[in-house]
Amino acid sequence: MKPGREAGPQSTGRVVASHGRDASVVDDSGREIHCRLQGRRLAVVCGDRVRWTPAHTEAGAGLIVEVLPRRNLLARIDSRGAAEPVAANLTQLVAVVATIPAADFGLCDRYLAAAEWNGLAACVVANKCDLDDASGTLAPTLEDYARIGYPVLRTSKRLAEGVDALRERLAGETSALVGQSGVGKSSLTNRLIPGVEAAVDEVSRASESGRHTTSTASLYALPSGGELIDSPGVRDFAPPLPAPRNIAGGYREIAVAAADCRFRDCLHLREPGCAVAEANLAGRVSARRLDSYRRLLTLAGQLAGRGPPRLRR
Ligand code: GDP
Ligand code: ZN
Repeated sequence: MKPGREAGPQSTGRVVASHGRDASVVDDSGREIHCRLQGRRLAVVCGDRVRWTPAHTEAGAGLIVEVLPRRNLLARIDSRGAAEPVAANLTQLVAVVATIPAADFGLCDRYLAAAEWNGLAACVVANKCDLDDASGTLAPTLEDYARIGYPVLRTSKRLAEGVDALRERLAGETSALVGQSGVGKSSLTNRLIPGVEAAVDEVSRASESGRHTTSTASLYALPSGGELIDSPGVRDFAPPLPAPRNIAGGYREIAVAAADCRFRDCLHLREPGCAVAEANLAGRVSARRLDSYRRLLTLAGQLAGRGPPRLRR
């Protein structure tokens, strides 16, 4: 290799923030390096493991030359209906619901399904547990989630215990808090990462004064262990849907029951010999989850009719 240009030693690192062709990488010793992406074809997202080399560019001190294989790549549906990658190498999704605004369990199911489709662990956080649930549906629905094996945590920004249990759940994982707007994800994030609010302000000021930044995510090391990937675009992302036949894989108790359906390609609608319908009668699949599954199946069918979502680069 010629001396000088790009002859530096290559190291590995983790992308902790990415904006267009710029990214911040933390190397194995914990140092943060501002990097540029080599060439036009390379694209990184928060959470990526990369190979980089020291290089002096106008944007920083490193050049990312390769993205290492991803365990998973989480995408969201953007405003134009295209799938846009938001984070790589997550291990856990934390679906947050609350009493106010009234919990949207269909959305919660979709996040839990996205976790199943991507091989991630998942748990449900019921925030604002200091407030009464006027609807009366929260407690039985949370019980149903716990019954099918999702850890359920009750938290409040006013109480320490719940947040401590959440900290324990996050330790050793790379997680994202997701859920509808207003359920308290920012408040929880501020409790988990002291000073994060100031850091986020800095990012938005930088983006106001310069280039466009869409859904810039950041990866934070939690003081109590584990990592959190956070951004406005991650917090309430709409997960893309797979083909209709794969929707059931996102509903773990339905997937278990489906093994005994008479037809291999049973969609658990009204087919004869459907073991999911039987499991519903026997109380192993709740009516609400079965209905939620069928709604998502209908939506996936409508989307499939329009062709698969394009992956934006
Ligand atoms: P996000 O949109 O999910 O990030 O929600 P925010 O964190 O911005 O919270 C939305 C509103 O709910 C704010 O007015 C918070 O002060 C309030 N809030 C958040 N957590 C709690 C909680 O545990 N209890 C109560 N009573 N209010 C909360
Ligand atoms: Zn069936």
